[in-house]
Amino acid sequence: MPRPIRAVIRTQALSSNLSLVRQYAKQSRIWSVVKANAYGHGLQAAWRGLAATDGFALLEVFEGVRLREFGWQGPVLLLEGVFDAADLELARRHGFTIAVHKDEQIDLLAAAVGPGKTDIYLKMNSGMNRLGFAPAAYAAAYARLRALPQVGEIVLMTHFANADAPDRKGIAGQLGMFESTIGAMGRSLSRSLSNSGAILQHPEAHYDWVRPGIILYGAAPRGKSKEIAGLGLKPVMSLESRIIAVQQLRAGDTVGYGSRFAAPRAMRIGVVACGYADGYPRHAPDGCPVLVEGVRVPMVGQVSMDMICVGLESVPQAGLGSVVELWGENLPVDDVAEAARTVGYELLCAVTPRVPVSVV
Ligand SMILES: *Cc1c(COP(=O)(O)O)cnc(C)c1O
Repeated sequence: MPRPIRAVIRTQALSSNLSLVRQYAKQSRIWSVVKANAYGHGLQAAWRGLAATDGFALLEVFEGVRLREFGWQGPVLLLEGVFDAADLELARRHGFTIAVHKDEQIDLLAAAVGPGKTDIYLKMNSGMNRLGFAPAAYAAAYARLRALPQVGEIVLMTHFANADAPDRKGIAGQLGMFESTIGAMGRSLSRSLSNSGAILQHPEAHYDWVRPGIILYGAAPRGKSKEIAGLGLKPVMSLESRIIAVQQLRAGDTVGYGSRFAAPRAMRIGVVACGYADGYPRHAPDGCPVLVEGVRVPMVGQVSMDMICVGLESVPQAGLGSVVELWGENLPVDDVAEAARTVGYELLCAVTPRVPVSVV
């Protein structure tokens, strides 16, 4: 048997999460966000599970081309737009929709030759201060684009910094800024504002196209599993492995590099084939939850490159070969992330290429 770690990706769970997003945003069309290799799940698996989406949104033009190669003929949105003229050429050839967030991207469009109109997502910086035109510059950018023969439909777009906050305050400032800026430009234009947090919490911001990412993968926008428990979202990835060695410790024996964990009493520990080179967070502390034979047990000792250790006191039946879930169907990735002071997004994206993937 090979090294026992693997990531299981359930395409059924993706489809089910997509249907749930549709129920939340019945009036909107859906860009399924599949950037970062579909949040670590694999673009091809995502394409299979999300085939009922209205469009796929991602960053790299070649990832969009891969979707075309899989057979996807529908809309593809490049969330950061194009990075140079060659990028734009490819995007135009494949009929991708592109975000435009700075004047230089309009210059590229103006210089593009050949037939065909490119659909645009014109991005406003409504307060997050990463990408987008300042509100004062927005109408001028729109007018410049509208005058270009290379440009097709223009959708108005912004992105929230705090859509996951539990009250309306999370989006009120940015939504107000967005609305007042575009008020003068006409109500007939389509709009796209909502990420996962806003889809779940702010129906008033759904508009024409929503852009769910993390909830499609069954994890929480704020990294707290409690906040999505009961919504019906299903974890898509399970990271699984097995116990490959067992040690009997005496009181005072230590575990792993730096001897961080010292056994308070005699105890059995299991060694699991999963380490930071698989994407497990190296900064996870003692006590970080791990599921062994279906029981939550504490991780003990420093995470090493290829292994972690777990206390087996509460699972006397566990031993060599016992099944371990690092996160997934029975242990929310957000619970592991919370213990490791990060969010599920980061853990899912960080699974490394050496982990074999089974798409089911
Ligand atoms: C990543 C991203 C999203 C999806 O965010 P989630 O929090 O995962 O739903 C939506 N819109 C833009 C512009 C993004 O970059």
